[in-house]
Amino acid sequence: MKKQTQEKGRCSSKDPVVTYSSELLYHALVRSTDDFIYVCDMKTGVFHYSPQQVAEFELPGEIVENPLPFWKELIHPDDWERFKKVNMELGKCEKDSHLIEFRARNRRGEYIWLRCRGQLMRDPEGDPALFAGIMTPLGRQNKVDPLTQLLNRSQFVNDLNRMMKEDMVEQMAVMVLDVDSFRRINEVFDRKFGDQMLKDLGRIILGILPGNAALYRMEKDKMGVILENGSAEECMELYRAIQKTLKNLREWRQNKVTVGISGGCAMYPADGVTVDELCRYADYALQYAKSHGKNRLEIFSKQILEGKKRSLSLLYSLQKAVIQDYEGFSFYYQPQVDARTCRITGVEALLRWKDETGHPVSPAEFIPVMEENGMIIPVGMWVMRTALEAGRLWVKEDPLFTVSVNVSALQILEEDFTAVLKQTVEEKEFPYQNLIIELTESCTAKNLCMFEERFEELRALGIRVAMDDFGTGYSSLELLKTAPVDIVKIDRGFVRNILNSTFDAAFISFVVAICHDAGIKVCLEGVETAVEYEFLKERDLDSFQGYYFGRPVPENEIVLQKLV
Ligand code: C2E
Ligand code: CA
Ligand code: CA
Repeated sequence: MKKQTQEKGRCSSKDPVVTYSSELLYHALVRSTDDFIYVCDMKTGVFHYSPQQVAEFELPGEIVENPLPFWKELIHPDDWERFKKVNMELGKCEKDSHLIEFRARNRRGEYIWLRCRGQLMRDPEGDPALFAGIMTPLGRQNKVDPLTQLLNRSQFVNDLNRMMKEDMVEQMAVMVLDVDSFRRINEVFDRKFGDQMLKDLGRIILGILPGNAALYRMEKDKMGVILENGSAEECMELYRAIQKTLKNLREWRQNKVTVGISGGCAMYPADGVTVDELCRYADYALQYAKSHGKNRLEIFSKQILEGKKRSLSLLYSLQKAVIQDYEGFSFYYQPQVDARTCRITGVEALLRWKDETGHPVSPAEFIPVMEENGMIIPVGMWVMRTALEAGRLWVKEDPLFTVSVNVSALQILEEDFTAVLKQTVEEKEFPYQNLIIELTESCTAKNLCMFEERFEELRALGIRVAMDDFGTGYSSLELLKTAPVDIVKIDRGFVRNILNSTFDAAFISFVVAICHDAGIKVCLEGVETAVEYEFLKERDLDSFQGYYFGRPVPENEIVLQKLV
């Protein structure tokens, strides 16, 4: 920085200098700020604190020879190790600067957040001469989240901006963490428990955080971490440490809950150079982690960005289509047949959609997009209305005919799901006992207790529940014992190799045996050929669904007769 003259015009030298007493400078600075300024003589280890700080923390005096024991009394136990570590590094002159945030108890007995930023100055020989710094109370500036006492989102944004602006770091990792199924935790226990869990989580993560990282509460159950000079590997390491700690912690305040946490991270400057970009990309990575099984960390990549762009454009088109009276949507119905007679006993309603260019998009692609944004809730009920409307005619012809409708976990977890469904079924004058609701196995497994409640409500009405895609989740058999379903639909993956795989054949027979013991009917999906059917028809299944008996077709092509 260019030196300036103290009083303009009085100095005639070509290279102007400022002369002042360092003692006066110190007092002037101390008086002109609300922050706490301190200086340490590195040759003697003696600290000089400002009078305001002495008063605020009741320090033994402005001059303190060995202040660490006093701070130990004042600093929050969860922050002490970090504080000590930074001071040790300083004492050994391993680092020339530091930035640390911690809580300390003031004279009123309250813990307040302080940010301490300090700089070591060396003498011409390179030996440590002086250490000076500023402690800023963060609470005064609305920087702390009142619930968790973590730094808040605006502080996260400020810190990121500052680090980038001041060129403090060459690289940096931004990580966002989000508790898996937090809404459910709040529902199963209560808000108070959820709040306590967030507080505990903040404390736990703070305890694991390395010295170059800071933790923030972003919103609800989302936290942010900035790793100064951090890499993607360090993010992964930190994430694994958090995951491991949570895994070992099976009880929260005497309640048995396992808590998973998902994360996403983005790198500065490789992925983005603005706060907005870094946050958005870390969020995309987080969303990817959430939609790919949760309880994992994803590092932002070009592929994640491409996928996100595609789903955003799909979402836009889907929203437009729904507003324009479900333009481009249609229904196909696929027959389900009795395993012994091959007569059609019902159909599964399958949604179809063509985008604005008339290009068909697979439901495997557009359903998750609608689930992610919640659109599936109204669209799913529209599907229900349409399928029941079509089904009425078939039921008139065959009173035992069933209509199966796929329902997303998101829909069924809605508080008023049963009430809205009841109203729809009654409006359509469709008999409850002819309706089957299909739920995928993976969603039932994760939210079993909530589903049990819904199943009972549906059962009471006479509606049946089928567990879809059975065998694709990881706790299939375990689930059979507990999930109160009426029908199990074995995933078509088990048929693909049926002629060569003894395991698949054995699995099917085994599932049939257990289900029948429990009074559950079994449907096998994906039977495509006569050979497969011949092989499977002796396996005591109740029904089949597959291309061999009929592909999904428009409503008017369904015929109520023996299909093969
Ligand atoms: P799903 O519920 O397992 O539906 C069966 C899927 O298997 C359908 O694919 C069907 O066309 C296909 N399939 C049936 N028989 C055979 C066969 O013999 N061989 C082969 N290779 N495939 C067969 P689709 O229509 O593409 O649907 C995919 C998934 O999209 C469905 O899987 C379901 O999870 C979801 N989906 C479709 N419609 C809806 C809906 O209205 N609501 C919700 N929530 N999900 C839906
Ligand atoms: Ca299904
Ligand atoms: Ca299925």
